[in-house]
Amino acid sequence: MSIVIVGAGLAGGTAATELRERGYEGPVVLLGAEPHPPYERPPLSKGYLLGNDPLDDAFVHPQAWYAEHDVELRLGVEATALDTDAHVVTTTGGDVRYDALLLATGAEPRRLAVAEESGVPTAYLRTIEDSDRLKEAFGSGGRVAVVGAGWIGLEVAAAAREAGCPVTVFETAELPLLRVLGPTVAQVFADLHREHGVDLRLGASVSAQDLAEADLVVAGVGVAPRVELARSGGLAVDDGVLVDAALRTVDAQRGTSVASVLAVGDIANHAHPVLGRRIRVEHWDTAINQAKVAAHNLVGGEQSYDAMPYFFTDQYDLGMEYVGHAGADDEVVVHGSLGDRVFRAFWLREGRVVAAMHANDWDATDELRAAVDSGDLPSPG
Ligand code: FAD
Repeated sequence: MSIVIVGAGLAGGTAATELRERGYEGPVVLLGAEPHPPYERPPLSKGYLLGNDPLDDAFVHPQAWYAEHDVELRLGVEATALDTDAHVVTTTGGDVRYDALLLATGAEPRRLAVAEESGVPTAYLRTIEDSDRLKEAFGSGGRVAVVGAGWIGLEVAAAAREAGCPVTVFETAELPLLRVLGPTVAQVFADLHREHGVDLRLGASVSAQDLAEADLVVAGVGVAPRVELARSGGLAVDDGVLVDAALRTVDAQRGTSVASVLAVGDIANHAHPVLGRRIRVEHWDTAINQAKVAAHNLVGGEQSYDAMPYFFTDQYDLGMEYVGHAGADDEVVVHGSLGDRVFRAFWLREGRVVAAMHANDWDATDELRAAVDSGDLPSPG
């Protein structure tokens, strides 16, 4: 049986690893459009961008690992079409036949027209090359305008400040990260950035004129899942590639499961069996753990993916971890000190904990996970 993985990112690389670790000995082809073997992106906006961590630390494996484990890694090759009846992927390097296929094509930054129209050089951050360009630009100390105070925008703002650049952040919401964290905890991030000298402009849409004074605009306005290949194969697509609990794709016309084609990571819009609804998660942890379950299911397994979303960030001296899935309207209970930025926060819906996070409290992780799993609010202390 031949397994083909499209997308040599974190999810694709992890799936190939897991197949070999589980003892699968058949052919595995891993196709990647980028020139690099699979790597982790979080360092691109943190340690690597800051110049603290070497690039080598970001790779899932050194390139030699793939040949040593008989994984045929084809880099710089893009899959352009999919025929799910014939079991063929068309690529820029020729056709590839599969018995089982894993789609792990990830996501790409949404373009920001107003920035591109502003006449100021505009950057996005997704790849090693993007991070290298930003690092170089920050080195010149020019004025940086960041559009979007989401995770990537805020991490980029922190890195630019630490490099000594004047930074303005534009965000349409009233607070950074408001939709994810709600007002109480989002305020912590607003205060953090202002204390570090960021000019945070909230609650209004950015105009080309606002950006005109910057030397560089960095647009961090979200990503779009790369679904073109799935669509070309007649798979159901709606904010990502629809997959069932076991990560199998769905035929768009018949509405039935396509047992031989799975999808994971940033592209997968997953029917989460515990949450009871679809979610598409753009996190490191999901890419890894969905890929592990998919590797099992590609070779005949029938495992559901039921982990709660998990996320982390580092900005200046604030490190945090978040587990679960809450909304801005959920009630939040805080244990610890928001002012000192050492706390645990729990989001409650109908009296049950649905998400939890800590800031700078690294012993908290087990308590957070237990609270989200049980729904019970722990006592402070
Ligand atoms: P990707 O990593 O996007 O990999 C997909 C790969 O598929 C790419 O290499 C792409 O070129 C390739 N590809 C796409 N289409 C084709 C095709 N047709 N043919 C061949 N190859 C193709 N998450 C966290 O939880 N915490 C963090 O702190 C964090 N920080 C981040 C910082 C940055 C700068 C970025 C960009 C992301 C960050 N993330 C973070 C998100 C995390 O990196 C992603 O969720 C994760 O990379 C998703 O993995 P993936 O394999 O699904 O997709």
